[in-house]
Amino acid sequence: MIILVINSGSSSLKYQVREGDDVLAEGLVERIGEAEVPDHAAALDRVDGEVATALGGRSIDAVGHRVVHGGERFSEPVLIDNEITRAIERLNPLAPLHNPAAVTGIRAITEKWPHMPQVAVFDTAFHRTLPEHAWRYAVPDELYRRFGIRRYGFHGTSHAYVARAAAELVGAEALTGIIAHLGNGASVTAVRDGRSIDTSMGFTPLEGLVMGTRSGDIDPSILLFLMREGYSEQDLDALLNRNSGLKGLTGTNDMRSVTEAAESGTERAQLAIEVASYRLAKYVGGYHVAVGGAQALVFTAGIGENAAAFRSAVVSKLGALGLELDEDRNSERSKVARAISTSSSAFPVLVVPTNEEAAIAEATADVVSRS
Ligand code: AMP
Repeated sequence: MIILVINSGSSSLKYQVREGDDVLAEGLVERIGEAEVPDHAAALDRVDGEVATALGGRSIDAVGHRVVHGGERFSEPVLIDNEITRAIERLNPLAPLHNPAAVTGIRAITEKWPHMPQVAVFDTAFHRTLPEHAWRYAVPDELYRRFGIRRYGFHGTSHAYVARAAAELVGAEALTGIIAHLGNGASVTAVRDGRSIDTSMGFTPLEGLVMGTRSGDIDPSILLFLMREGYSEQDLDALLNRNSGLKGLTGTNDMRSVTEAAESGTERAQLAIEVASYRLAKYVGGYHVAVGGAQALVFTAGIGENAAAFRSAVVSKLGALGLELDEDRNSERSKVARAISTSSSAFPVLVVPTNEEAAIAEATADVVSRS
């Protein structure tokens, strides 16, 4: 089955065409809304043109969409129809930047290829198994009932994919362990018997770890304080989502630059790595308890897969759990799933490359072949 995987942003459209493990074509259309690509329909025409050559006369069988927010309703990928599209649209207030773009992408496909099966794969779905004590905030119930204020969790497609791959690597039927997805956005998930039981992102992707440009956990009173100092809603949004995290601490959100600066002795960069690795180590300690004893700690995504120095900074703080890195294995450059701990480590530390496109394509093929 040939699957077109689409990740629609408000002004960009990222795509990949896959047949099983083969990537037949991929690309990015940017600046949607400007003269050359006035809307998502025009972006799709461009994708169609780019893909046609790669397919050499064959055609796409189904489209899989990355959808950020599935709210409380969607716990697995679904075949899209008008009602599903409207349901995704109703979740716009919860993901004001992402869900409207996904809906625009879905409608553009429906318009262009009315009979094309389309599947929505939700970033929140894997975390629908969180128990209520993990997803509740200790605020008046009315906030949950009126606005849906609760913890949802994100990066679910990646966490689910990595959970399966890690289980395979350690020879378990299902993973009981902790997965750290560390990219520009970062989250850590507690997985018991293959199911997510807690995760660090919450109502939005802002909660939890120190990220490229997001602060992660802070005292909410800081917002109230800054509002009294004259900061507007837009100021606070920009401050916490775009100008904090590694960028706030060092001036750059790129972990490569931060680790290089730290190695050459820049104190701010060293401090940023300590703040970020300490935060993650605290979560790992908590989640070790939550899952009833992890059987693996897994690193994935841009930083998790490539930043050996950062992995080392995290694991060096986890001696109390009996974890021990094999520094040679840790510094090996490799693209395959592998263990990087010593044989005397209490449980293995793994690096497992994530692949959200592959996961979305697999889920899409699965839903379409069952429908
Ligand atoms: P992602 O969002 O998964 O693409 O991850 C992006 C992050 O991975 C950025 O902070 C990059 O600086 C970081 N990254 C990618 N390669 C490396 C590397 N070799 N060393 C350190 N960080 C890296």
